[in-house]
Amino acid sequence: MEKIGVLTSGGDAPGMNAAIRAVVRKAIYHGVDVYGIKNGYQGLIDGNMEKMEIGSVGDIIQRGGTILRSARCDEFKTDEGQEKGIAQLKKFGIDGLIVIGGDGSFRGAQKLTEKGYPCVGVPGTIDNDISGTDFTIGFDTALNTIIEAIDKIRDTATSHERTYVIEVMGRDAGDLALWAGLADGAESILIPEKSDDFSEVIDRLTRGHERGKKHSIIVLAEGVGSGFSYGQRIQEATNLETRVTVLGHIQRGGSPTAQDRVLASRLGAQAVDILLSEKAGRMVGIENNMLVDHDIQEVLSSKHHINFDMYKLSKELSI
Ligand code: ADP
Repeated sequence: MEKIGVLTSGGDAPGMNAAIRAVVRKAIYHGVDVYGIKNGYQGLIDGNMEKMEIGSVGDIIQRGGTILRSARCDEFKTDEGQEKGIAQLKKFGIDGLIVIGGDGSFRGAQKLTEKGYPCVGVPGTIDNDISGTDFTIGFDTALNTIIEAIDKIRDTATSHERTYVIEVMGRDAGDLALWAGLADGAESILIPEKSDDFSEVIDRLTRGHERGKKHSIIVLAEGVGSGFSYGQRIQEATNLETRVTVLGHIQRGGSPTAQDRVLASRLGAQAVDILLSEKAGRMVGIENNMLVDHDIQEVLSSKHHINFDMYKLSKELSI
């Protein structure tokens, strides 16, 4: 391979820039040209791409978002869209593509690989909802943002003796809620992977209140449902003043943590090595702190598992 491309697609995640930097620098290190494709698969269809140099990725390792920008592109889900993308890649003489994104983006990469065009995926999403890797790029930063926010809310919760329901992101995965809840000593953590008994949540709240507890924090994953309706149910059941905060998009931005920068650098560089070794249709990941790669199709057809030991521990620590 003499020329490769890189794009970011789907929801942005902090650390994507560090991954782009690693891809560009590792490719140049190997003497391979690298093209940056703007706006995800939309830019691929439009031929919106340009050659990147060592300096193109200077001063970005610490920035959130993605300098290549991201987009959602329905046309790419069609055969014609994918053919248009491949035609553009061929026109620019690009031999292989690295896709940084979540599972939707990997479906696109898988389709290109099936059509004979080699792709490698790099897991970039705050949700940590991809199988074949212990962590995705952006998860650690989002988690730290959530913790910082909950710590602040806790000050008010204590001062006013309130119950707070905090809704966090994660799509269908409960990882952000579970890790944040454990890190913040939440009374209850509600995740889509486990349907918690409502009466158990109420019992725990009531027990805490009777013990003289000044506040309670409940972390709810968005995959469980609306924080507002959950808060209302709690207020009605306990008569305790209950407030709801939906953290929203602050969870997606910000400067990546050291963990995410290092993870993104390792995964981005590994993706280049995998692509240059002529392995196609792979996703790079990290398992037990070791770099791994898996077949994208297998990644897409298996489910990411939450750590139930951690969930059990969170209950034991919030008796
Ligand atoms: P994420 O990668 O974060 O999961 P999306 O699910 O929105 O984000 O997917 C990002 C993009 O990937 C979509 O806008 C589309 O261009 C492409 N994509 C998603 N699903 C498919 C598919 N089945 N076939 C081809 N491309 C797809």
